[in-house]
Amino acid sequence: MYSYRAPLRDIRFVVHEVLDFEQHYRAYGREELNRELLEGILEEGARFAEDVLAPTNRIGDEHGLTFEGGRVTTPPGFKAAYERYCHDGWITMTADPAWGGQGLPTGFSLAFGEMLVSGNMAWRMYSGLTESAAVTIAAHASDALKALYLPKMVKGEWSGTMCLTESHCGTDLGLLKTRAEPQADGSYRVTGTKIFISAGEHDLTSNIVHLVLARLPDAPAGTRGISLFVVPKRLPDANGEAGAANGVRCGSIEHKMGIHASPTCVMHFNESVGWLVGKPNEGLACMFTMMNQARLGVGLQGHGLSELAWQAAIAYANDRLQGRAMTGPKEPGKPADPIIVHPDVRRMLLTQKAFVEGGRVLCFLTGREIDSAHLNPDETARRRSQDLVAFLTPIVKGFLTEAALEVTSLAVQIHGGHGFIRQTGVEQLMRDARITPIYEGTNGVQALDLLGRKVFGTGGRSQQMISGRIVESIQKFGPLPDVAPFAADLGKRLEQWGKLTAELGAAATRNPDEVGAAATDYLHIAGYMCLGWCWLVAAGVAAKGLEQNPDDDFYKAKLVTARHFFTRLLPRVDGHMAAARAGAAGLMALSADQFAIA
Ligand SMILES: Cc1cc2nc3c(=O)[nH]c(=O)nc-3n(C[C@H](O)[C@H](O)[C@H](O)COP(=O)(O)OP(=O)(O)OC[C@H]3O[C@@H](n4cnc5c(N)ncnc54)[C@H](O)[C@@H]3O)c2cc1C
Repeated sequence: MYSYRAPLRDIRFVVHEVLDFEQHYRAYGREELNRELLEGILEEGARFAEDVLAPTNRIGDEHGLTFEGGRVTTPPGFKAAYERYCHDGWITMTADPAWGGQGLPTGFSLAFGEMLVSGNMAWRMYSGLTESAAVTIAAHASDALKALYLPKMVKGEWSGTMCLTESHCGTDLGLLKTRAEPQADGSYRVTGTKIFISAGEHDLTSNIVHLVLARLPDAPAGTRGISLFVVPKRLPDANGEAGAANGVRCGSIEHKMGIHASPTCVMHFNESVGWLVGKPNEGLACMFTMMNQARLGVGLQGHGLSELAWQAAIAYANDRLQGRAMTGPKEPGKPADPIIVHPDVRRMLLTQKAFVEGGRVLCFLTGREIDSAHLNPDETARRRSQDLVAFLTPIVKGFLTEAALEVTSLAVQIHGGHGFIRQTGVEQLMRDARITPIYEGTNGVQALDLLGRKVFGTGGRSQQMISGRIVESIQKFGPLPDVAPFAADLGKRLEQWGKLTAELGAAATRNPDEVGAAATDYLHIAGYMCLGWCWLVAAGVAAKGLEQNPDDDFYKAKLVTARHFFTRLLPRVDGHMAAARAGAAGLMALSADQFAIA
């Protein structure tokens, strides 16, 4: 059974050397966000993830949740870890100081966020949802609602959920039926049943604040008639504490493939008192604040699980003795060599390493851009950062979760038959990872969002903008001899990507199905290109590091992994380009009847 160790050397490489967070915040006058502070978070955060969280991960999977009389009890150790998380102030890290938070920017917190996921993804979901719900209330609710809910949520005394899905309405939220009746006192009575609600009921907090999408009586049909409401499990009393029950009931929890320790609840709202957040019928736009945060959070889940899977695989590959190296025994004193001597095992390990380390740069780079979108004093620059984040969000969510499926599956493969049985623990990672391409908007939806809204919706400008950023990096690092082949390769594919985007745009004007037919392959192309960008920069920084320290093994490994990415993974783009060009006709050729089993 593997154990988790926070990958501090690589995290430091990304935050200090590749992205230079200290300089980034200094440029915005936030000198207090310096290397020393970040180092403190990394050291202490690593201890929390390794010593407090990681030991609960397997227990959570094996023990699961208990559901009795409408109440959910979390697995042993979960509550203690949560109390420690709140007591030590971790939960307040990114929240607004006006409500008791520490006000640290998103980019600053992502390294710790990654460690929490690797430590225990299911446990992390409780606090992650609360943080996103609090941000949504802060952005859209009235001052009175903020004052009532945020201090409790920021401290972690009350948790949060997002309640969108109903049995007949998942991707198509326009179908939702939950209704909200206005009352004379300005509140609403919310009635309906939501399904699949993560952390809808549990024993970690004294109250649960549900953010519920519902329809007003006169609402137009479809997505333009959806409003957002705060509906607490318990109504705040005169002192602002959790008071009377509010007609919110958990009917059951799902038995599922993975994340056994995260309750996926059927939630009944029966004339529950709620308050409107934002304007009537504009609830979906408000909910997007939470969904966009959550999408990046799910991308980080994919990345954090990939890190853990890679750690398990590398430990096993060094330990497991099978066969001899083709070039002669490497450990002649032992009955066989460790499997890491075999080229095919190395192929799998390097593929994992390339996704994990490249994915880390992509996640943290997106976080840094989110900070620029808030902190940059220049409005045009702020808007540019917002556009870049909008473009990168479906890529981080969609691509890094697909990568997680591959990386966790490779961990099982590297363990051979021992990966398929429960004892080694790696099959849990594969099961936990499987939800990430599904929730928070399936990856099919992420792909449509990327190609339809972010690319075609901006007349191709967003794709040109990211290409411009990649070209800047090619110009900066391309002259380095170790990096030149990577830069040339990426530059060539960048031209092909631009050409494909224009072709697909023209095809889509003739037939809207062309967007859906090409979208998933396009998402993969964009993912590999962005990861290529990240690897180019990482390789450039490593090459410069080697000029100073020619014997540094860490930098040498970076260049080797970069080469693996550019020679063995980036060429996958060719296949995706061919598939994206194949068009909609073939996909739409069969009638539903013709699909039937003959
Ligand atoms: C463990 C778990 C936790 C969850 N947590 C929450 C939560 O906290 N809150 C919440 O509200 N929901 C939650 N969900 C629900 C989740 O977000 C939905 O399952 C997801 O959005 C997909 O909806 P669906 O399951 O109804 O699938 P459907 O919408 O029925 O989709 C089925 C398939 O059709 C495809 N599809 C559907 N429409 C289109 C389209 N227009 N174009 C192309 N393809 C399409 C989808 O990509 C998918 O492959 C959770 C689900 C699970 C399993």
